[in-house]
Amino acid sequence: MNTIELQQAIKEYAESIGIDKIGFTTAAPFRELKNRLVRQQELGYQSGFEEKDLDKRTEPALLLDQAESIIAIAIAYPSRMENSPRGKKGERRGIFCRASWGTDYHTVLRARLRLLEAFIIEHVPTARVKSMVDTGELSDRAVAERAGIGWSAKNCSIITPEFGSYVYLGEMITNIPFEPDEPMEDECGDCTLCLDACPTGALIVGGQLDATRCIAFLTQTKTTIPEEFRDKIGNRVYGCDTCQTICPKNRKKHNLHQEVFKPDPELAKPLLQPILSLSNRQFKERFGEVSGSWRGKNPIQRNAIIALAHFKEEAAVPELVGMLQNDPRPVMRGTIAWALGKIGTEEGFVAMEKSLVTEDDSDVRIELEKALDGWKKKQLSKYQPIIEDVLKWRYMLHYLSR
Ligand code: SF4
Ligand code: SF4
Repeated sequence: MNTIELQQAIKEYAESIGIDKIGFTTAAPFRELKNRLVRQQELGYQSGFEEKDLDKRTEPALLLDQAESIIAIAIAYPSRMENSPRGKKGERRGIFCRASWGTDYHTVLRARLRLLEAFIIEHVPTARVKSMVDTGELSDRAVAERAGIGWSAKNCSIITPEFGSYVYLGEMITNIPFEPDEPMEDECGDCTLCLDACPTGALIVGGQLDATRCIAFLTQTKTTIPEEFRDKIGNRVYGCDTCQTICPKNRKKHNLHQEVFKPDPELAKPLLQPILSLSNRQFKERFGEVSGSWRGKNPIQRNAIIALAHFKEEAAVPELVGMLQNDPRPVMRGTIAWALGKIGTEEGFVAMEKSLVTEDDSDVRIELEKALDGWKKKQLSKYQPIIEDVLKWRYMLHYLSR
């Protein structure tokens, strides 16, 4: 079998194992990407989750000896959930982004890449291969773009004509010189819908992302979320899909064919309150199979508190008060102080007054003081008309009695 025949055989085999799209590119360095990453670093737009070594991220030859080409793969994931449960008062629900529905895509893509590796080695025993998905050194998007999987869109996704941007990406570096595919034309044109719809202004013109403002990244951090973003997070407990759902290229791309990514509605749109009291073990048992659990329970619990505040869910106040008094994690106590301020019940404020006496974490104290200050101002403004009336009457009585 010559290289062209092998390439064709790989395409057919890939399809048979559930790989939706495959493309080939050379192992040449990604020079333009390197310039872009340097600019990202200078501007402070990075999430901190990336591989730090820019050479490794852009030079495939540093990752595999005698690298000749890269095989890019894409597997589509669903954009619609059947039987999507609806939240209601007392039973509010959060939402995981679509990329976290169904089985963890890292597991699925790695398994299919391993099958592809075995297929190649069976035909070329001297073949050398190195595969990666998401957490590898290379940029999945840069590889997919150059291998013609889709175009690099203004929402910083790869958009494929067949499945929209709802695709997981992975790649394999090989020492076989496959024929490269042509990159696709950019089809975003004059459209700016995703930039306009982004709740935090994280998308910068020119396909750049300020990850420090992006909800998808913020929901994965372990620290306190800056106040300016909390309202904008809404009920998202993991990730954000806004710049994808708004995209006209994603219209009618439901991608329901990969059974493995079919979401369990109770996991993809979980009830919020039960999340608050999960132990590490319970969290792992319940959410361990979905990719959104990779940072553990703390970010999800913090985001659930923010989501309960978004709904102003009064039924959650007793539990939040309990956590404010007993939870050892300052990030949770600080977020709860903000949430109780948003929900605005008397019970919440009495509890915050009490906590302020014993709280010794300076960041939590700041949150408590801010929330209590807001509450006092609100109370004052509520009684302002009455105070003004009383003063008016006092003045009139004083005037009449002269
Ligand atoms: Fe903006 Fe959400 Fe897209 Fe991030 S994922 S760029 S926050 S719309
Ligand atoms: Fe491109 Fe418009 Fe889609 Fe944004 S919304 S990715 S600009 S087509």
